[in-house]
Amino acid sequence: MPEMNTLPLKERMQIPRVHMPELDPQVRAHNFQEVNRGLAAPGAVNEATRCIACAKPGCQLDCPVGVKIKEIVALIYSGDFLAAAAKMREDNALPAITGRVCPQESQCEGGCVLGKKGEPVAIGNLERFIADFERQSGQLGLPAIAPSTGKSVAVVGSGPAGLSAAGDLIQKGHRVRVFEALHELGGVLVYGIPEFRLPKAIVKGEVDNLRRMGVEFETNVVVGRSVTLDELMRVEGYDAVFVATGAGLPVFLGVPGEHLNGVYSANEFLTRTNLMRAYRFPEFDQPIYDCRDRDVIVVGGGNTAMDAVRTARRLGAKSATLVYRRSEAEMPARAEEVKHAREEGIEFRMLTNPVEFLGDQKGWLTGARCVRMELGEPDADGRRRPVAVAGSEFVLPVNVAIIGVGTTANPLIQSTTPDLATNRRNYIVAHPETMRTSKRGIFAGGDIVTGGATVILAMGAGRKAARAIDEYLKDGEW
Ligand code: FAD
Ligand code: SF4
Repeated sequence: MPEMNTLPLKERMQIPRVHMPELDPQVRAHNFQEVNRGLAAPGAVNEATRCIACAKPGCQLDCPVGVKIKEIVALIYSGDFLAAAAKMREDNALPAITGRVCPQESQCEGGCVLGKKGEPVAIGNLERFIADFERQSGQLGLPAIAPSTGKSVAVVGSGPAGLSAAGDLIQKGHRVRVFEALHELGGVLVYGIPEFRLPKAIVKGEVDNLRRMGVEFETNVVVGRSVTLDELMRVEGYDAVFVATGAGLPVFLGVPGEHLNGVYSANEFLTRTNLMRAYRFPEFDQPIYDCRDRDVIVVGGGNTAMDAVRTARRLGAKSATLVYRRSEAEMPARAEEVKHAREEGIEFRMLTNPVEFLGDQKGWLTGARCVRMELGEPDADGRRRPVAVAGSEFVLPVNVAIIGVGTTANPLIQSTTPDLATNRRNYIVAHPETMRTSKRGIFAGGDIVTGGATVILAMGAGRKAARAIDEYLKDGEW
């Protein structure tokens, strides 16, 4: 039994939130080291002391995978960090990752009662603490693996959905092989989210654990081109396939001049930086147009745009500006990213929209013609619709423009699997609980079904799929 927190409620509620130490903004704006440095054990215990152990914990209801936060915080309070980590892993297979990247303010911490009058318990920071503690202790116990069932499952895509499904399926005794199009494993966790938010070593550690559990990985395999879903089933003999290919196809603005040299999609910019090690320049050559001493704008207001603009700043941009057509209140990026970006000297041009990119005679970008916007009536998702202000056009001098306004499904697999049902936006249609698609033996989950969402939702989908695949492999019913 964990030691009980006997401090009176009133006193607990007066303890200020323990803040995460961070790298100095002046220093970190010029390197790719992780910004948040993690809590030390005494800080974590202090933070755990603040929890008032609600009878119906709102934090748990608001966590998409229902992590048992109340029990975990009590274990941290009593100093049993390894037991806390083990309890966490019952619902969340990748806590070192979610502790770093979950949008806690709109999930678990958003449901914390303390947040109504003051600051919520720092659940994400505690999650990260116990996961890091467990890893550094070297006492990470691998789960038991059931005896072989003789069945095999192909997982397509190694993002959080694919990895969490693979981890659960291998434990149930099935053979699991993950096929990944890129040369590195981890999906957006490695090619999208930069080192300064999520160190690659953390993701690699999780992949290595899966390997030790027996999961097989094959990189540089583009399913739909190298091999089709039908071939995986009929020729290679897999009994089931889980499609977890994400939503990595960039969306552009569709304005004149987007073809100019110096205009990138945020996905391309981040992939080149993250996977081709531009963040370790000059040790590795930068395979992207040099941002140093140039004016860079990033168009968009979500996590991707924020990651791109903070990356450009670190690559030495003279100015790194975020251009967003709504106001800051509507930005979907995590609150922490916005705060960190401001501290690092990112300029914010809100209510501004590029309508044309301008270039020189050699086809290099020189400027962005922009228009000012104002907010009108709410649109379908409840956010106020931006409307152009007549006669407000102006030109921003720009050498590099990065478009981070969203992504969509890559139609490759769907186009080579005609009996796999998709919706009008090209996402695979799958049952929300069983993850079954229209095609026998094929399951799908994560961003390829929901559209761009969050790491924890993708992981939750992977776990649901693993349960459903296991049932299907046992009873053969479809
Ligand atoms: P992905 O992570 O996209 O992984 C899919 C994998 O499938 C990729 O590795 C891809 O290469 C591979 N693949 C695709 N097609 C094929 C094919 N034909 N054959 C074989 N392999 C294929 N969420 C948060 O919760 N917090 C954040 O801070 C956050 N920041 C983000 C920052 C960026 C830059 C981006 C792009 C997204 C961010 N997200 C964030 C969203 C989150 O990362 C995604 O919702 C999540 O990664 C989706 O997981 P997934 O497994 O469905 O797909
Ligand atoms: Fe919060 Fe995400 Fe952890 Fe759930 S998984 S408790 S939402 S940080």
